[in-house]
Parts: sequence; structure tokens; C-alpha cells
Amino acid sequence: MAENSKIEWTTHTFNPWRGCTKWSPGCANCYAETLSKRNPAVLGEWGPGKPRVLASARMWKQPIKWDITANNTRLLNGEKMLRYQMTSDGDFKAYDTKAKTTIFRPDVWAALPAWRPRVFCASLADWLDDEVPIEWLVRLMALIVATPNLDWLLLTKRIENLRPRMERVLNAIPRTNITLAEASARALAEAWLTTGGSIIHNIWLGTSVENQDCADKRIPVLLSIPAKVRFLSCEPLLGPVDLRKSGGPGTAYKSANAFDGNALFIGEIGGIDFAWSKREMLHWVICGGESGPDARPMHPDWARSLRDQCKAVGVPFLFKQWGEWMPAREEETVSLHSGYCHPEGRGAKWPSPPGLGEYGPRELEARGFAFVARVGKAKAGRLLDGREWNEFPAQP
Ligand code: SF4
Repeated sequence: MAENSKIEWTTHTFNPWRGCTKWSPGCANCYAETLSKRNPAVLGEWGPGKPRVLASARMWKQPIKWDITANNTRLLNGEKMLRYQMTSDGDFKAYDTKAKTTIFRPDVWAALPAWRPRVFCASLADWLDDEVPIEWLVRLMALIVATPNLDWLLLTKRIENLRPRMERVLNAIPRTNITLAEASARALAEAWLTTGGSIIHNIWLGTSVENQDCADKRIPVLLSIPAKVRFLSCEPLLGPVDLRKSGGPGTAYKSANAFDGNALFIGEIGGIDFAWSKREMLHWVICGGESGPDARPMHPDWARSLRDQCKAVGVPFLFKQWGEWMPAREEETVSLHSGYCHPEGRGAKWPSPPGLGEYGPRELEARGFAFVARVGKAKAGRLLDGREWNEFPAQP
């Protein structure tokens, strides 16, 4: 775990514990599981009943330090200014990233926009894993409440666990003689189970959507839970996803458009009855391909479609990476590991899809297949149709 995350969409990464169980198509090549094999006593184990490992006390103090720094930082023309001293006149001295000091009157300082670092919670676990001791989750929730200057990115593949886990949090905390931490966790759990409130002001709640099936199951649940920002992580993207699509036969919801605030959902998910209409919807979509030795390719049209759906309704879109594979022209990549990505995400096959060996490149492309080459994550980069997509939800 690095203090300053290399992930482009977050400022810091905090892992409260390590270890998990595979849960979703995106888990097939879980890098955290591979990493954990080097040192399971510290990095946790994978699978039902396997031990999860709580991070050290030193790690748990890091978000407190980040919060103090954020509280002392303001933005001046987009540049970070860190307050470090008060003058004898009661003004604030602050320095920028080039160590240049500026003196601010307190009212001027207070009027500057806040710098709000984003903290991605759990790159080596899932924060709603129901095998984690509930006391650990209480501790995490208390930490989130105690760090109001941080925006917490709570991403999960188990969004349907949120309500049952919050019920367990409430059951685990006594009603009287409780600590401040327990009171904070209780207040947050109650907010999540009802209509939100100011306590959720620093929570960006997200769920992973790797394909349409995940979208159909998870988005209605995400939309039913209060959060300051709701986001999707479409990574690794393993198939086309239409966020405007009605659930077809067999899906859990009758009609839902994740964007336009006119969702209508009637039905039951995980034992909970939902019925709502007209509520605020998604605020951010992140998209990316898979990394690692067994990475599966992402069809460029899946990423383009998500980008275009977001653009059409003004929802910020962030294209994180291609991953191991990127689109290529067959004639330019004959020496590379390459193949064709199925347009519906039924796996990529190389050198040519089964039963289609008689077709040439142009014929396969006409059938929607994309020729992709394995060039490695660094070389594949993060340009989509020639440019970076680095959009974020607006700061409050
Ligand atoms: S939920 Fe995340 S940490 Fe857990 S197995 Fe899946 S990818 Fe790995």
C-alpha cells in the first residue's frame, strides 16, 4: 500500500484490512490475491473462511494526518497553499508547491476553496466483504466521520451488502455508554439506512460494473443509497454496458435509466423492497481495461459507448487505462500477441475467433470484432480516440 496512490482517480489509498473472496466476473484475475501470496500473514488470504488481516495502527493513523493536511490547505488559482504559521498580526502564512510563502488575512484564507483529497478505500479488499469482523467496519466508519476534509471513495462489488452490514453495525453498538467512535459509526449507519443527511457529505459511493448483468443488478441498489457522489467503476470492462437500458426479462428492475433521474424501480433485491421514482442519479463513470498476466481485452466500442452515454447527459467520464491490451491494426502488429475481441464480450479469441477462421480482418471488423494487441499497460496508455478523459465530479 503506497501513501500516495498511483491510481489516477484518487489522491491516497487506504487499506483498512486485507483479504477477500472472489465475488464477480471482475475478480477472476484479482491482483490483490496474487500479491497476497507473497506474504499472506500481512496481505491476507482469499476465499470463504480465510483470515482477513487488519492493517497496523500506524496505517490507521494515516487518514488522520491526511485530514489535518487537507484542513490546512486551500486552493489559490488552482494551486495548493499549505498554511503553516500564524503571524503576530493574526494572519496566516502559507506556502505553495514551489515553497513560495504568501500571507493571508484570515477572512481571505477562509474564502479560498478547500482542497479535498480523495481517499480510495480498500484496493486489497472489499469494504463490504461480509466475512470481515463487524468491529473493523465500525472502526472504519468512525474514521470516515472523523476525517471530514477527505472525500472517501467507497467502491464495492457487494453494494447489496450495504444495508445488511449497516444493520449489523447497529446491532453491534450498544445503545448507552458508547464511545465517540461508536456514536459516529451509529450515526453513519442510521443515515445510510434512512435518507442520508450531512454526515454523508464526504462519501463517494461506488459500485463495480463489469458488464450489463452487473449493471442490472447493482445500479438500482446504488441509486437507492444516500451518498454525496454516486459513481461506477467499469473496470475491468468485460462487455458492453448500456446505462439507459431497461431491465429485460429476468432482470431485477422494471425500468431504470441511471442518468436522467426518472428511474422507476419496483421489485426486490436481496430481500429489500424498493419502490421509487425521480431521484438524483449517477455523478461519475470510470472506465478501464484489465492489467496483469491473464488480462482480458476491452473492446474499444464498449469504452466509446460509455463515454458517449456520459457526454450525452453531462456526466463526468474518466478513462483510466486500456490495461494490457489495446486496439490495433492487424497489419501493424503481426509480431505481437494479438487477437479479436468479441463485440458482446463473450471472450476474446486469438489468433482468430472459433468458426470464423475463414474470415479476413475486414470481414471480422464488419461483424463487430475488434483487433487488439497485447502491448503491456504502460505502452497501451490511456488515450481514447486520441485524447485523455479526466473528468471528475465538481467539488462542492
Ligand atoms: S472484490 Fe476486489 S479484492 Fe475482492 S476478490 Fe474481487 S477484485 Fe479482489
